[in-house]
Amino acid sequence: MENLVNPKLRDELKKFGVQDWEGCYHCGQCTANCPLTEQGQLFPRKDIRSMQMGLKKTLAGSLEPWLCYYCGDCSKECPRNANPGEMMMALRRYLTSVYDWTGISKLIYNSKIAEFALIFIIAALVLILSIIYSQVPDRSLWITPEGGVAINQFFPVEYVHFGDMVMFVLLAGLLISNIVNMYFKVIVNQGIKVHFINYFTEFWALIWNFISQKKFSKCDSKPYWYVHLFLVTAYVTLFVMVVAFLTWFQTDTIYAWYHPQRILGYYATLGLFAGTLYFIYQRSRKTKENSKHSHYTDWTFIVLLFLSTLSGILVHVFRINGMALATYYIYIAHLMILTPMLMIEVPFSKWSHLAYRPFAIYFARLKKAAENKQKEANMEATYKLKESIA
Ligand code: SF4
Ligand code: SF4
Repeated sequence: MENLVNPKLRDELKKFGVQDWEGCYHCGQCTANCPLTEQGQLFPRKDIRSMQMGLKKTLAGSLEPWLCYYCGDCSKECPRNANPGEMMMALRRYLTSVYDWTGISKLIYNSKIAEFALIFIIAALVLILSIIYSQVPDRSLWITPEGGVAINQFFPVEYVHFGDMVMFVLLAGLLISNIVNMYFKVIVNQGIKVHFINYFTEFWALIWNFISQKKFSKCDSKPYWYVHLFLVTAYVTLFVMVVAFLTWFQTDTIYAWYHPQRILGYYATLGLFAGTLYFIYQRSRKTKENSKHSHYTDWTFIVLLFLSTLSGILVHVFRINGMALATYYIYIAHLMILTPMLMIEVPFSKWSHLAYRPFAIYFARLKKAAENKQKEANMEATYKLKESIA
């Protein structure tokens, strides 16, 4: 793809939420005030320029939007109210659709109807599978011999685990293929020659930033980082328990509250519940720079995540209180919310940033290492040339 000026890019980007950019006159205040920008990674002004110029290839190969954590500091300082922080957010949506080869991401970001239709179709499929595979007609299987709630008999845990694994392989496959696509756009197509060993030496940056979200802590708003970190660790905890250890996590036996199964479950639930409530509150109030503007996909994500958590809490409350029917119905409702949320958000929408961001940090380090190697090679060549002349 040649890097030609694309006059249609502006209209395309508007669908992803880019607004107000005509106001930007490139004073550079935003970049000067960004706590995360550094030499070689100058944002957000550089990306705004590429957007305005219609440079599609430059944008597709840009890592900077992922290096922004949307603290909003730049938007506060912009003399033209051009909302550079929100432009970076919109660019991340756009880039998610650029990496996604299926076209589903673009569909979700460009059409509310398509997004809701997808949620509805997946939820309906889950309902149909629940009716087929749960022990609906056989009420004798619904309770344990002790008379308690037998969730694993009502809906055999092996079936749920099998469904989990199928979904995990599918989602991981889609996300990994999109990350490979990202790698080609930001490294290979840019002609960057990465030294083989650097793929390993820089890998820790990916893991560290995924776990700690450390760069976020450089932003002024510390509470935002803490809440985000709590939410991420809660989600990862729940994800690992549900995907890898479901038979250990979902049992008919109710253990004491201090059992690791319950402690981990409570940690994950608290993180997700408090985190989603915090973000819903911030987006509704619109007082902070980073929550003033919401694309409809931001709301879909946060509301689905909140409802998944809430229905999960209700399953637990009904179960430990021996309310069998209420547990079974809410469990199916929980799966009908959770499944579309994961199927849509992880590979195609908002939650893909959980993978793209640490990978962007990793790719940025690979780029830097390659540049350093190139500089060393150039210096060595110059030195040799000077020596040969002398
Ligand atoms: S977005 Fe605002 S602060 Fe940034 S360069 Fe443009 S006018 Fe200046
Ligand atoms: S939102 Fe924050 S991290 Fe992102 S470009 Fe602006 S100042 Fe930098």
